[in-house]
Amino acid sequence: MTRFLSRIHAGMDPYVPGEQPQDKKYTKLNTNENPYPPSPGVIAAVSAAEAGRLNLYSDPNCTALNQAVAFTHGVAPDQVITGNGSDELLAFAFMAYCMGKKAVFPDISYGFYPVFARLFGVEYREIPLREDFSIDPSDYYKAGGTIFLANPNAPTGRALSRAQIAQIARRNPGDLVVVDEAYVDFGAESALDLVGEYDNILVVRTFSKSRSLAGLRVGYALSTPEIIAELNMMKFSFNPYNVDRLAILAGAAAVLDKSYFEARTQSIINTREDFASRLKEQGYDVLPSCANFVFARHPRMSGKELYLALKENGVLVRWFDKDRIRDFVRITIGTPEQMEEYFKAAAAAERAQP
Ligand SMILES: *Cc1c(COP(=O)(O)O)cnc(C)c1O
Repeated sequence: MTRFLSRIHAGMDPYVPGEQPQDKKYTKLNTNENPYPPSPGVIAAVSAAEAGRLNLYSDPNCTALNQAVAFTHGVAPDQVITGNGSDELLAFAFMAYCMGKKAVFPDISYGFYPVFARLFGVEYREIPLREDFSIDPSDYYKAGGTIFLANPNAPTGRALSRAQIAQIARRNPGDLVVVDEAYVDFGAESALDLVGEYDNILVVRTFSKSRSLAGLRVGYALSTPEIIAELNMMKFSFNPYNVDRLAILAGAAAVLDKSYFEARTQSIINTREDFASRLKEQGYDVLPSCANFVFARHPRMSGKELYLALKENGVLVRWFDKDRIRDFVRITIGTPEQMEEYFKAAAAAERAQP
């Protein structure tokens, strides 16, 4: 550490992204990317003509993209903000709604929440999940701070119902409830319909999973026009051109291609159900998943042994060295062929067991 680093950042513990190895080719089932390419409309939108305009700044209001998102979800454009990945919008939410207040989220959830809290000097309270890794909604009544709920939760894949989210919003009239719906398209109920009914719900979504655009870095958030205006206040105080020219066009094309999105999402759901039942046949503990991954425990190997042995055999999964979940791995749902690769690698790992 140099003597120049601010003292407040001395003990910083940044977010650790899943491995993105650039050396050899792995079957990548570790960072919940979509195995299918983006919609053909996306490729067409990222045209040579637009690339030729990269000398000019992008639209700071992201008009084309916000309109496409608003149209898709049946809300007004002033109820939408788009960002450089949903991570950026979550950061804006911490800036706007947690600095000088408290944040509340589950003890096992998206690893970025405590990182943002510490970065922005926000006091936070982590509420333990139940023994079965589900969330008890009543734990969040009168939470006493801005609530962050990934729904479905990561890395468990378990989801709350819309009615349960509504109840949490109702029981916290003085605090905002941020519902991070990164995985909602893979089988959970969205809280989006609640935005008109409650003034304290912010829904955050991403193009990185169900829209096959993790590499483009686009996310969006939906809420009341007042909350969106406040998030824009953060954006225009930080990075007004946060979505680049190519991302505005490509994102708009992706969100408007409804049939491609629905077909690919359904394929992933089907693959997940087949994969989860085969894991169970082999004796794994598998949590019920509403996401594009499953969280599973091998009958004989520890999470770390399984993770390392799979990697040896060319398959990457995500393992978290954390109490309560150390014996689990999170396996992204890829194509059916990629899931066959998983079983081959796991069988090789089991054969090598002492
Ligand atoms: C992947 C993920 C995100 C971040 O997505 P980006 O849009 O790629 O920044 C946010 N929240 C959760 C729970 C995620 O799993």
